[in-house]
Amino acid sequence: MWYKIKKFSINIYGFIIRFGIAAKRKTEKILSDIPNWDTREKDHPAFIRYGVVVVLCLLVFIVKKMLGPVLGDNLPFMLFFSAILLSSWYGGMRPGILATVLSAIIANVFFLLPSHITSSFGVFVATTLFLFEGVLIAGISNSMHKAVQIQEEKDRFIQYYASIAQNISDAVISTNMDDKIQSWNKGAESLYGWQSYEVIGSALSEVVHTTYGVQQKKEMREELLQEGNWKGELSHKRKNGSRVFVLTSMSLLRDEDNKPLGIVSVNRDISDRKKLEQGKDDFIALASHELKTPLTSTKLYIDVLKQRFEDTHDKKSLTYLLKINDQVRKLLELVNYLLDVSKVQAGKLQFTVERTHIDTFVREVVRDIEQLTETHHFHIEGKTEAYVLLDKDRLRQVLVNILNNSIKYSSQANKVDVSIRKENTHIIVSIRDFGIGIPKEKHTKIFERFYQVDDSKGYTYSGIGLGLYISKEIIEKHNGKIWVESEEGRGSTFYFSLPIIKS
Ligand code: ADP
Repeated sequence: MWYKIKKFSINIYGFIIRFGIAAKRKTEKILSDIPNWDTREKDHPAFIRYGVVVVLCLLVFIVKKMLGPVLGDNLPFMLFFSAILLSSWYGGMRPGILATVLSAIIANVFFLLPSHITSSFGVFVATTLFLFEGVLIAGISNSMHKAVQIQEEKDRFIQYYASIAQNISDAVISTNMDDKIQSWNKGAESLYGWQSYEVIGSALSEVVHTTYGVQQKKEMREELLQEGNWKGELSHKRKNGSRVFVLTSMSLLRDEDNKPLGIVSVNRDISDRKKLEQGKDDFIALASHELKTPLTSTKLYIDVLKQRFEDTHDKKSLTYLLKINDQVRKLLELVNYLLDVSKVQAGKLQFTVERTHIDTFVREVVRDIEQLTETHHFHIEGKTEAYVLLDKDRLRQVLVNILNNSIKYSSQANKVDVSIRKENTHIIVSIRDFGIGIPKEKHTKIFERFYQVDDSKGYTYSGIGLGLYISKEIIEKHNGKIWVESEEGRGSTFYFSLPIIKS
């Protein structure tokens, strides 16, 4: 009988210890994501952690021996549990278990056996219960200690990042989804002149009065919600009324369920760069304006000379003259581009719109371009019978630019597909080539001023990266949109949409 009880009790104790260790491993696995969550092993060497356990148990033993006859059993048992709790709190789970086992031995040898519990079954039950309670207390104490440490660690993390955001020289501002300002760092205070206590809780748009076009605002919101971030240049108002150009980088903050929480934006003052750019733009505007007049009269004189050489059958001179004419034409084209860019910058691009049958218009332009190329064949499909309001010269400029690009960037192919279709309230024109294509990350960049994609094979193409920039401006001024779909090495499709007018 005694042997069976002993075996059973060994199994039970083994189970208790295994249970304790498994619970510890599980907790540690969950907590292992958080760095430095348990510093006790590093802070105190093993002999101190385990030494404290022994000292505490000895103290309890002495106190219990001294107070036991006066206070009875309960308080002294509470003292054992306190020792276990303290050991586990300061030393970890292992010292906690050691304290439990030591306490159980002391309780057994010095208090249970000599006291009123005389049957071995009674001792077994009491010890088992004691061990259970001890392990439980050690586990709870240990977990609580870890929870406190994790919270402290998290608080340190938060404070650390908050202080980075606070002291960064750029303006870092966060808002909730209703545009109400939640935080405003020192960089924002010095950039805008508002102190954080003056603006927290106010609508950001009212504080900084951002200027952007309706289209830009819509695109920004869409991109922010879909991609999670947006980058661009904006103009903001300061407290003193002056305006400042900023490079803004916005990111959408989401909670654990992926629901949008708010927006954090980092704004960098780029006024100096803008001033330089303005100087460059002014120079380009002036230079191209001054170049246009002599170039136009050179072109006129070339026409006069051409007539003369044709009359005198001077073929050699005529050949040279045609070459000069070609170069002057290219120069004039460039000057016109630069003048257009200056007009776009100053918001002075003029439009004279008229009601236009889009199918006929697109077919005419495509046929004109086809006549000038010997390498490519154009296939047009689709019919909308729709009318749109167009500045024909400007729209021709857009189409010619896209069509010329589709030839220029697809020298190994020989065809270009053009399609015209209707989609709800808009017509969509698409031009598809089978050329070098454009990498995905450049799809929006190519519509920026002077942007050209570096050819991966090192091939250089003529051009200055202005055509699509001007085309975008023209299409947007017609309340339309322009975009590209393309894969590197497989060709590109350029699209533009325009609103249909009711007939
Ligand atoms: P560019 O005068 O340089 O052609 P654009 O503004 O028309 O200027 O085009 C900008 C850039 O976009 C080009 O330099 C080229 O890298 C890229 N690009 C435009 N169209 C195409 C196309 N059909 N295929 C491949 N790349 C293109």
